[in-house]
Parts: sequence; C-alpha cells; structure tokens
Amino acid sequence: MTDDRAKVSVNGSCLCGAVKFEASTAPRRVTHCHCTMCRRAVGAAVATFATFESDKVRWIGKLARYDSSEAAWRGFCSRCGTSLCFGFNPRPERIYVTIGAFDDPDAFPAGFHDYRDSKIEWLHLDEHLPDASDFKPSRK
Ligand SMILES: [Zn+2]
Ligand SMILES: [Zn+2]
Repeated sequence: MTDDRAKVSVNGSCLCGAVKFEASTAPRRVTHCHCTMCRRAVGAAVATFATFESDKVRWIGKLARYDSSEAAWRGFCSRCGTSLCFGFNPRPERIYVTIGAFDDPDAFPAGFHDYRDSKIEWLHLDEHLPDASDFKPSRK
C-alpha cells in the first residue's frame, strides 16, 4: 500500500495544555460524525475527527480514558475535560483525534460525513461531502 502523505508534524492540545499530541503524518481523513454518542462525548453539534494510524500519534501528558461502549473508548483531559480522541477496539491500529484540539485545524478540511441520519436538522455543514459509510464498513 502506498502512502504519499508528506512527513509533517501535526500538533494539538487540550484546553489547559496538560495533554498534547504530536502526529508524524497528516491524517488519513477527516470526518464529521453525527452519531449521538460522539455528539455527547464532545458536547458539540457535530464531532469532527481526524483519522491517524495509532502508532503515528504520540500523547504527551496523561490521556484519560472512558469506555463509552463495549466497542469504543473516548480519550480526554481529566483536568480540563477536553475531548481528545475516539478509539474503536476492533481497530486498535487507528485513532480518531478531535479536530477542535488541533493547533491548525484549517490545514485538514473534512472530507466525509458519518451517521448523517442522526444529524441535527438545523446544522448545515459541508453538505456536499460524501458519506464515509460508502467507503468503509460502519465502525459502530
Ligand atoms: Zn486539559
Ligand atoms: Zn460517532
């Protein structure tokens, strides 16, 4: 499998700065997730995640974990509460980092929607983007 993504350093942190991350590549993709669980987990109208290979992301500081279901967990800062990532147990080789925690989210625009059926009706965002489920199996 070819990987032509440039070697870059992608950085971000929680609100208080106690937890930071550093990725050694650009994300594979950025996806707006509209599912109820992600929405609650981040406390926003939509949860936008950048997908990375887990081994390309280094966490600095203590990432707290909450098991949100049998299949998934959420990573956050236990000091300020910032939601930092989503992990899907059947795919431990991937990590989904919240785009809002990025130092430069403008560099990585979203490319997909997930669970558009659950989208808040008044939210109008990147309507032209395709559904991620057309490209991969559902991760719920
Ligand atoms: Zn924090
Ligand atoms: Zn979701």
